Order: sequence, then structure tokens, then C-alpha cells
Amino acid sequence: MISSMKAVQIVEYHRPFRYGECPLPDPGPQEVLVRVKASGLCLTDLHLSQGRQRIEPLPRIPGHESAGEIAALGGEVKGWKIGQRVLIVIDVPCGVCIHCLTGQTQRCRRLKRIGFERDGGHADYVAVPSGNLISIPDPLSYEDVATLPDAGATMYHSLISQGKVGINQKVVVLGVGGIGIYGVQIARLAGAQVLATSRKEARLAAAKKHGAIPLNPMKENLREAVEEFTRGEGADLVADCIGSVESIQDGLAILRPGGKLLVIAYIDDNFLVPSIPFFSTEKEIIGCRGCNRQELIATLDLVAQGKIKPVIGARYPLSQINEASGRLEKGEVVGRIILTR
Ligand SMILES: [Zn+2]
Ligand SMILES: [Zn+2]
Repeated sequence: MISSMKAVQIVEYHRPFRYGECPLPDPGPQEVLVRVKASGLCLTDLHLSQGRQRIEPLPRIPGHESAGEIAALGGEVKGWKIGQRVLIVIDVPCGVCIHCLTGQTQRCRRLKRIGFERDGGHADYVAVPSGNLISIPDPLSYEDVATLPDAGATMYHSLISQGKVGINQKVVVLGVGGIGIYGVQIARLAGAQVLATSRKEARLAAAKKHGAIPLNPMKENLREAVEEFTRGEGADLVADCIGSVESIQDGLAILRPGGKLLVIAYIDDNFLVPSIPFFSTEKEIIGCRGCNRQELIATLDLVAQGKIKPVIGARYPLSQINEASGRLEKGEVVGRIILTR
């Protein structure tokens, strides 16, 4: 067997990703070695490289959306075989805290996440616990599923589990980038009416294609448009996929009393909430992070049934991660970028 591989590393914060030779990971007794076939590039990968979320010690291989085939099995692994096609769950939960024991593993405080506290999938190979594998249904390609562990299933968790979106509700998705486009589809699938915003016309065209009313806040007034969309009542749910001071304020302003603001992304370090309008209208602000295993399986099922379509806007070889990151940062891509092998 080979002893080294090509991988992307964060070596130092505020520096480009390093692409080069790394030692082949050595899977533990209950782990498997996965030969990665496709990985999704997330804005969080860029946040990590810029030190906005610290992941000491460096160097670290990022990449939390990956799919591939099993290349080797640890000695104690049962139920999996070499060559099997697998999707990788991000969170490695502690398994014994109150959150883990009640199925809310995304809230576990002792998580080790693949691509964060552990090496991730922007590499030729990654070692992961066998409990983090989900087998990929036959008709789906690696590319079809690679972006589900974060982008797809995070929106499922946010809208279905946290937001409890329902039939004929009025939902506003702020920002239809890599995760927002899944949000449009999941909210529509749940029977909601959806208005989606972006400053990029290509992203709005994709949102429209998936059943949302598109709105460019540079050209139209968001608050007036939501008034019209909701017959003056305000939105039942706002899925904020931007996470800026402005998007939080907009999100709260366009909610109906008692409505829910789902905070799914972040750009700014702090949010400002106007106190009297907030408490007097009983609005809710709900943090939404990642997903549990069942939510990822549900998302995968919906993709297998053709009810959700992954939107892949660009493909780059792994070696070109810095070029790909530049395009992602400029908001030039519709949907997700896939790093290919
Ligand atoms: Zn991510
Ligand atoms: Zn736990």
C-alpha cells in the first residue's frame, strides 16, 4: 500500500491553503480509510483558513463534505467492506452526554468534527469512525451526495426540525448560496411558499427555478416585498443564510409576531437586536448548527427520490482549491463548488 497522498492543509491562518504531499492516514481499530471521490467546498473552510474559527493545532486538513469508497478497514470494524460507496457524517459525538443520549448530537459539547478537530476530506484519503459512514444508494453519484452532510442536511435540520416549517407557510430565505438553495427546495417540499434573496442574478434564477419568488435587495425593497408576499402579516419563518448585522435586522423586521428567525450562517461576530420590537412581538431567534445522522439520512433519501436536487455550480480539481475559494468568496458560484479527484 502507498504511504503518502495528496491533500489540502491549513498550515497557518490568513494564508492560502497548501496543496501537497501528506502521510496517508492510519485508521484506528474502529475506523475506516475512505478514498475520497468528491468533496464540497464550504465558506466555513475559508473561515477556518482565516482563523475565524480556531482549530488548533495546525496543520489541519479541512473538508467536511465528502464522499468516496472504502479503501481499508480497521481490525474491529464490522458491517462494512472494501469498495463500498459511502457518505461521511461530519460530527463524531461523545455518545454519553445528554444531547447525544437524546439524539441531538449536533449540540454535543465534546464533538470532534471531521474537517475541524480531525482531518477532513479535502484529501485523497480520510480516516473516519465506521459509525460516521452512510452507504450511498446506487443511482446516486459521489457528486450528487458530497454536499449533503453540511449544506443539504443543515437546511433539513434548520427548516424541518428547528423551524418546523409547514404547509402554506410564508418562508423567506435570506441568501441563496450553497446552503440557501437547499433551503428553497426543502421549504417548497414541505408545502411552504418561499421568497428568496440574493444580490446575484444567477443565484436568483436558480432559486426561481426551484420554486421561489426571487428578490434582489439591491433593486427592490425587501420589507415592502415581504409585506406584499405575506398580505401584510409578515413571514412565518426566515432562514438567514447570511448572518450579518443587516440580515438579522431585516430578518426580524419581516417576521410576523411569533415568527421564527433561523440563524444558520455567520459573517459578523455580533448581532444587534432592537429590544422593544423584539420582546413585544414574541419573535424567536433560533440557532441552527449542522444535523444529526438521521437528518442526513432523510436528506439523502429525498435526493435519491429526486425530490431535492443538489446544485453544483462549479468543479475544480483539489489542487486548485485556492482558485475555487476566490470564486466562492466573490459569490460568483450558483450552489456548491465540488473539488474533484
Ligand atoms: Zn460547511
Ligand atoms: Zn455528546
